[in-house]
Amino acid sequence: MINVTKTFLPPIDEYQKILQRAWDKKWVTNRGELLLELEEKLATYLNTSNFFITTNGTLPLQIALKVLGIKGEVITTPFSYVATTSSIVWEGCTPVFVDIEEDTLTIDPSKIEAAITDKTEAILATHVFGNPCDVETIDKIAKKYHLKVIYDAAHCFAVTYKDKSIFEYGDVSTTSFHSTKLFHTGEGGAIFANDKTLFDTLYYHHNFGHNGPLEYHGLGINAKASEMQAAMGLSVLPYMDTIINKRKALSECYKEQLQNTDFLTFMKIRDGASMNYSYLPVLFKTEELLLATLESLEKKEVFPRRYFYPSLNKLPYLEHKKPMPISEKISGRILCLPLYSELSMEEVTMICDTIKQVE
Ligand SMILES: *Cc1c(COP(=O)(O)O)cnc(C)c1O
Repeated sequence: MINVTKTFLPPIDEYQKILQRAWDKKWVTNRGELLLELEEKLATYLNTSNFFITTNGTLPLQIALKVLGIKGEVITTPFSYVATTSSIVWEGCTPVFVDIEEDTLTIDPSKIEAAITDKTEAILATHVFGNPCDVETIDKIAKKYHLKVIYDAAHCFAVTYKDKSIFEYGDVSTTSFHSTKLFHTGEGGAIFANDKTLFDTLYYHHNFGHNGPLEYHGLGINAKASEMQAAMGLSVLPYMDTIINKRKALSECYKEQLQNTDFLTFMKIRDGASMNYSYLPVLFKTEELLLATLESLEKKEVFPRRYFYPSLNKLPYLEHKKPMPISEKISGRILCLPLYSELSMEEVTMICDTIKQVE
């Protein structure tokens, strides 16, 4: 069976050896030595340091909205994973969708101003599949209207834009280390902020608001990661260069075999961005073609995923379901093909042959 992804797990003795240190100390959470070591190593790997690790990639979005004091309308993308929208709703804010660019699949900044009202307080956009948003234009609009900018960078491990970590853009940036993501700690994530005061406020909010054992800065929640999560990260991190290179080779193999077909296209990567090969999205000419392809792949025990379907403006719990023509059109026609480091070139060829036979 070939799924859209397969979690990379290091040899178990390497994980156990790191975990032994937590056992020896009888210290399994609350920012133990393994977590601190992972933060240090990630700072070097990602070439950015204003972040801390969290227990997943969703709580950072909620903490960011809370800490920035966002209560009203949040301009956001309809083309992302549900956590982007659900965090806004969970925090009692109102998501206001702005359609995406057809080629990059990220929020279309030329449509943002028309969606701004006197209740708009923030923009929460996703660098979808690791492809950066038009961060410069978004920044200009945010400054003009005094809006906060949060980036959901869950797909962006190791992505750089104009030679700087993508995590450094926006007031706050968040990421996920979930086991389906490029780099993982089982469950996990991180939150980034360049402003020192903002960073400190985010930090105490993730630990019940503690200021030492007996005092509180204010309200908080628990978004701490455990030493088991950190041990997983420490044992996966040394493999990341190999993993990314393998995924790059597989992606190129897919592209080579599928690029001259007239029934599917690839996402356009923004100029200045590096790729991390976290996903392999392909866009079919029609939804019928996508469904037929899914059916023939499933017969061969190949299970791609319809990331992201449906378009988030269609979520059942939203009050105003304003149409988002481009996002809806893309959601219906996009498929993420299997991509993981254990996949073989032969399997990629089999998948491509199956896809080509559908037409
Ligand atoms: C995975 C993902 C999240 C949520 O991350 P978790 O670590 O699973 O909580 C948020 N946003 C996007 C775009 C994601 O893909």
